[in-house]
Amino acid sequence: MQSLVQKSLHFIFTTLWIFVFLTASSDVEANEDKPFTINKIRDHVYVISHIGKNGHINLGVVEADDGLLLINSWMEWGKEEYAAAIKTISDKPVKYVINSNDDPYNHQGNKFWADQGAVIISHENFKYSPGYHQVLFKDKLSLTFGSEHIIAYKSSAHSLGHINIFLEQANVAFMADSFRNDWFSPQGEKGLVGYLEGLDKALSMGNEKTLFVPGNTGNKITSNATDVRKVRAIVSQFTERVGQLYKQGLSVNEIVRDEQLAALAQHFEKYSVYKNSLRGRVISIIETNFIKPFSLSPKELIGYTGIYKLDDNSAIEVVIEEGALLAREEGKFLFELTPHSREKFDFKKEARTDHLTFQFSTDGKVQSLQPVLQENSWWLEYIPPVKRFKVRS
Ligand SMILES: [Zn+2]
Repeated sequence: MQSLVQKSLHFIFTTLWIFVFLTASSDVEANEDKPFTINKIRDHVYVISHIGKNGHINLGVVEADDGLLLINSWMEWGKEEYAAAIKTISDKPVKYVINSNDDPYNHQGNKFWADQGAVIISHENFKYSPGYHQVLFKDKLSLTFGSEHIIAYKSSAHSLGHINIFLEQANVAFMADSFRNDWFSPQGEKGLVGYLEGLDKALSMGNEKTLFVPGNTGNKITSNATDVRKVRAIVSQFTERVGQLYKQGLSVNEIVRDEQLAALAQHFEKYSVYKNSLRGRVISIIETNFIKPFSLSPKELIGYTGIYKLDDNSAIEVVIEEGALLAREEGKFLFELTPHSREKFDFKKEARTDHLTFQFSTDGKVQSLQPVLQENSWWLEYIPPVKRFKVRS
């Protein structure tokens, strides 16, 4: 897996932003005057969608008598246009922003709205991203907003800091990238198990009338429970089939050519657009579901935990949380690690070759770590590939 230069879907999204928006595709230019469309999906709930070449990117607005609550804050570059779109719904002030996760489209506008008086709410792992934040929570946060009762809760799907947002009265679930109805969404570090846990939790909080709003969609900006269960079945079968072929010893290229997998993927609206990115999906599924980590005892794993200091401003923390080994630095990054040997620990889910190596003292104790990043790695800005010595266990 290490030799394969692939990006996780999460990263592909980041790249797509850069591609679609910075190079100004003709599609975006055509929409320049009115880049957003608004759908009122419930009495006081709106979905504002940015329309690009590959579909809709969906953000939420909840209206109360005295203000608005935003579900995700859009990009830094388009904040004025986004604010103008919101104004067509209401002139009321934005009182809260809730972030689904650290994907750029979900949080880059945070500071813009905070400067106008909004309170920003994010998952506690958000502090390990470069994004602006204020209020953080771990498992669940409930908020009464006008006549609406809002529950934001941690989901095991998509990423280590993903939350879903459920509006009880309106019966709407905002899922961001933990669910899409037009293509595979990133399962996240916890693989299929985490992905399904996320969907099942969202299904159990709602009912047959719940509207599920994905962050990225094709033509259909909401789904019902039946749609969600359909996607759940496709993704489960697809993942199991990848596992079967992987265990038979097939290469990624061989797996991607499998007819059963193609038949499953064809159920999605975006098959013809994204079929060439199936390879990335398959690699990511193998990384998070089927690769067996190098075996280390719990005691040996604890030997890697600690603070690895670069200078007074920078230190990487290696911790074990809920059984997972994590490397993180506030304001910068958070990765789960997969041991590939005693020395080499891969960034799980990121199907690139970026990884950490550990060095040992003569008596066998972990002494230092060194990030090893690809030459063009997006993470170089946040994780300089310089050796750091352990200062504290
Ligand atoms: Zn994402």
